[in-house]
Amino acid sequence: MTIDPHTHGLSTLCIHAGTHLDQATGGACSPIFTSTAYAFPNPANANIYPRYFNTPNQQVFNTPNQQVINRKLAALEKGEAALVFGSGMAAISTLLLAHLKPGDHAIFQNDLYGGSMRLISSELPRLGVQLSWGANVAEFAAALRPETRLIYVESPSNPLLHCIDLAELAALGKRHGVLSVIDNTFATPINQNPLALGIDAVIHSATKYLNGHSDVNAGVLVASAEIVNRVTASAVNFGGMLDAHACSQLERGLKTLALRVQRHNENAEALAGFLALHPAVSKVNYPGLPEHPEHAIAARQMRGFGGMLSFELRRPEQLDRLLSRLRIVMPALSLGGVESLICVPSRSTHRTMTPAERQRAGISDGLLRVSAGIEDVQDLIDDFTAALAME
Ligand SMILES: *Cc1c(COP(=O)(O)O)cnc(C)c1O
Repeated sequence: MTIDPHTHGLSTLCIHAGTHLDQATGGACSPIFTSTAYAFPNPANANIYPRYFNTPNQQVFNTPNQQVINRKLAALEKGEAALVFGSGMAAISTLLLAHLKPGDHAIFQNDLYGGSMRLISSELPRLGVQLSWGANVAEFAAALRPETRLIYVESPSNPLLHCIDLAELAALGKRHGVLSVIDNTFATPINQNPLALGIDAVIHSATKYLNGHSDVNAGVLVASAEIVNRVTASAVNFGGMLDAHACSQLERGLKTLALRVQRHNENAEALAGFLALHPAVSKVNYPGLPEHPEHAIAARQMRGFGGMLSFELRRPEQLDRLLSRLRIVMPALSLGGVESLICVPSRSTHRTMTPAERQRAGISDGLLRVSAGIEDVQDLIDDFTAALAME
């Protein structure tokens, strides 16, 4: 089968790109190659070993050369090459450590995934990397220094769903020779392709939508072959690889990504609209709502607005009552799975930030974050209706 990432649609790429057709049996799915020892010498003169990120199941996701075969993740993100890691944080830390050295300066968005915040603020300063923070491209531009090496964003961001103008960010990076990086976990490649807008590197926590079933921890980098090669050289040293079984599960999850994301989008949009009109709710953050401060940016660069939203109760003291009364939507961490989840960022994902840091980022104690699953939307609305009802 010849799959062309430039002409085939995203649903077709989800299913057919980067699947290892099994010549031995004619099976339709990639086999799982469990070996950690591979014959050497071999015709390719290659040292094959899982921690070298080059076993068959890993290579399904890793294309050093787009011309050879169109692999699934690189194809979906419109990138030359991809590398799959044992977690989103392995992808993020390896990318950062592969590029930053003492004396460098890096600029980060104010509201990022809590784990990324911790990594950046606790590990980078002791390695001699200077940090700046900003909310938008104008603030990133103002923070630039001669020694700035990279700018790192999430769009939409976690948990406030802020959106960054990615074409503007890419242009800023190119003008100043600064690497632009986005964590595209919330959007997924179905809704947004940052590389096509000029961004240099895309990261995913594949634990979330890409796997999509809340049962695999994985991470992904998609970028030019040059960037992926550089990061691979560090990744081999840091050791954050994904094992063959998890690669296989991730590959299986990816086959339904386009279908799932379409329903996640629809359900989140309906829930956001419902909550925005509910008298017990004071504020809803969802990039698809016209009143969202970056709605115009999101509409320009996204094909769908994603499955994540957050909201605030008019009376935050009712938060625990709401959580205890939900019957379908499960109070839990993580996101991007088929089941709807709800969490309180100030108590969970962003708990280790100081109150001042949370305030700077705009994360109030009464903020609730929802990952809309793919259930029947009326059941989700009914669940919130009952849980929010006053008596
Ligand atoms: C979960 C998450 C991560 C971290 O990914 P892990 O797979 O848990 O290591 C990074 N960024 C975002 C936006 C996330 O939601």
